[in-house]
Amino acid sequence: MFLLGTLIIVFGTLVAVLLFGDQPRFRGTWLHRLYKAVNRANGNAAHWVVGFTTGNPIVGLVSRWLIPLFYVGIICFCVNLFFSNVYGQLPVLIKNSILYNFWIAVSIAALGASTALVTFVDPGRVTASNVHQATTIFRPNGLIFFDKQCFTCNLPKPARSKHCSTCHKCVLLYDHHCLWVNNCIGLRNYRWFCAYLLLNVNLMAYGGVLCFWMLQAQKQQYLQLGWWKLITSTTEHNRIAGILAILTAIFVPITSIFTVLHVRYLYLGVTTSEADKWGEIEHLVRLGVLFYIEELEQFAEQATMMDRKGDYTKAYLALDDESILLTAEEEPKYTMRKISLVEHDLVNVYDQGFWNNVQDRLFRIPWTT
Ligand SMILES: [Zn+2]
Ligand SMILES: [Zn+2]
Repeated sequence: MFLLGTLIIVFGTLVAVLLFGDQPRFRGTWLHRLYKAVNRANGNAAHWVVGFTTGNPIVGLVSRWLIPLFYVGIICFCVNLFFSNVYGQLPVLIKNSILYNFWIAVSIAALGASTALVTFVDPGRVTASNVHQATTIFRPNGLIFFDKQCFTCNLPKPARSKHCSTCHKCVLLYDHHCLWVNNCIGLRNYRWFCAYLLLNVNLMAYGGVLCFWMLQAQKQQYLQLGWWKLITSTTEHNRIAGILAILTAIFVPITSIFTVLHVRYLYLGVTTSEADKWGEIEHLVRLGVLFYIEELEQFAEQATMMDRKGDYTKAYLALDDESILLTAEEEPKYTMRKISLVEHDLVNVYDQGFWNNVQDRLFRIPWTT
C-alpha cells in the first residue's frame, strides 16, 4: 500500500511538472527547474535511443513500434483479465442487461478502431501537390510562424506545419509526435487522437466501475472484512478486480488531464506545439522586450548587443532568424509600440472561437483523400 501510494505521488508529480512546469509564470521557480531537469534527463535518454537506433534502421523501426505494441498488449491483457475474472462474477442484473453488455462491446470496439485510425491515418503530410493550397490556407502571423522553407523536404513550410524528425516529413497543422501510436498528430488525424483519448478514459472508467460493482456484490458474502482484506485475502477473482479498479483509479485522472488539456487548446485556438511557441512570446512580453515596428509592420525583440568597439548597445531583432532589424541609432526614425499585455496587444489570428475551432479541427478538414 505504501509502495502504491509513493508510486501514485511520484507519477502525479511528474505529470504535473511536465504539464505545467514550462508555464511562463513558473519561470525561475523550483517547478521550472524540475521541468528542465526532467526534460534534460528525457533528452539524454532520447539522445541515447536515437544514437542506438539510427545505427541500424531495423532496430530504429522496431524500437519505435515497441511503445504502441506495449500499450496494445497492456489493454488486451487487462480486457482478458476482466473477462476471465470479473465479468462472470458481476451481479446478474448487470450481466444480463443488454445495455451494459452493449456498452462493453462498443467501448472495446471503438477504442480499437480509434487506435487503428490515429496510428495509420496520414496526419497530413506536406507534399508538392498540396503545399501551394496549404500556404494559401495557413498564413504566417509574424509572431510564431513566418514564410519559411523546409530544407529537408525541400518545400515551403505552410504556417502551423512542422517537420517531424521522427517521421521525416512536414506535417500540416502539426500538434505533436505521439510515441503511443508512433505517428504525428496533425490536420487529418487530430480528430482520431481526440477520440482515442476520450475512448481510453471511457474504457478505463467503465471497466473500473464494473470491477467496483463486482467487488461490492462480493462484499455481501464477506461482511466482516474491509475492502483491502476483501481484495488481498479472499479469492483470485477479487484480487484481480481490486488491482484493475486501482489501476483505472490511477490512469483515468491522468488520461482525463490530457483530454481536458486538449479541450483547453481547442478553446484557445492553439495546437500543443503552438502552445509552447506562445509560451515563448508570453515570456518576451513579461520581460518587456517585445515591440511592434509600425513602419516595418513587423514584431521585434529588443536585445542588448556588443558593437565593433566592444560597447553594449540596444538593437531590435527579427523573431524568426534573430537578424538585426533596427539599431539604436535608427530607432528614433520608427514608431515602436511596446507589447505590454498578450491578451490586449496581440491577436491569435488562428483562433476562430471555441465552436469554430472544434469544427475546423475535428470536422471541417480539407484534403480528405
Ligand atoms: Zn520537412
Ligand atoms: Zn512524427
